[in-house]
Amino acid sequence: MTGGRAPADRNAKSPVARRTSSPSAVLFDADQTLLDFDRAQARALREAVPRVGLRFSPHLLRAYRVINDALWERFRQGAISGERLAHERFRQLLAHAGGDEQAAALLGCLFLDRLAQRGDRLPDCRRTLERLARRYRLGVVTNGYDRVQRSRLAAAGLTSFFEVVVTSEACRFAKPDPRILGVALAALGLPPRRALYVGDDPRTDAAAAAAARVPFVWLDRGLPLPAGTRRPRQRVASLTELAERLV
Ligand SMILES: [Mg+2]
Repeated sequence: MTGGRAPADRNAKSPVARRTSSPSAVLFDADQTLLDFDRAQARALREAVPRVGLRFSPHLLRAYRVINDALWERFRQGAISGERLAHERFRQLLAHAGGDEQAAALLGCLFLDRLAQRGDRLPDCRRTLERLARRYRLGVVTNGYDRVQRSRLAAAGLTSFFEVVVTSEACRFAKPDPRILGVALAALGLPPRRALYVGDDPRTDAAAAAAARVPFVWLDRGLPLPAGTRRPRQRVASLTELAERLV
């Protein structure tokens, strides 16, 4: 665990442990924290678009990411619903690629069906969960479609690790709304200080945790910080480092 400093003595109590009163649960974001969303998304799109007459290409994937990221930002701000997001991203993609916009609903269904089957784990995910599960109660708090996120966790062979899985679609609160973490804490019967939240997004994950008063650990995958975003104080460079600090 670092705050920009060299790792401390492994035998000393870690900064994470000091900042909480004996955490008994570790809650994780899913995408780009446990699951490889970038890979899953690319493969799902590659498999889905030929069914509506489009040819997959890196350019098409980039266009989809730009469209999807912009719509997710509006969703997080509460400006559009999840249903609207699910349809609009493919309507815009088809418009961009010269396809038939009437096929947006079909493409949306095909994409989510393919995505739900993807069990792409990030490299150090399973071993970390095995180590942490010996000592902590584990959970997932994720923005996403309930069926898709649960299916992906199952396809990745991870479901049995988690006592609670909370999705924004099911609980109707999306990060950075702290109430999504409150749902998980209530399910576990824990006050905020007895949990940790681990996530890769220094905006939504950190903001939700701060507002919920849950100690936050940023999984820093080396990407530039978004403009105007404060660097979270507690940082690990990998899930393996997280496990080394907590176990
Ligand atoms: Mg994430």
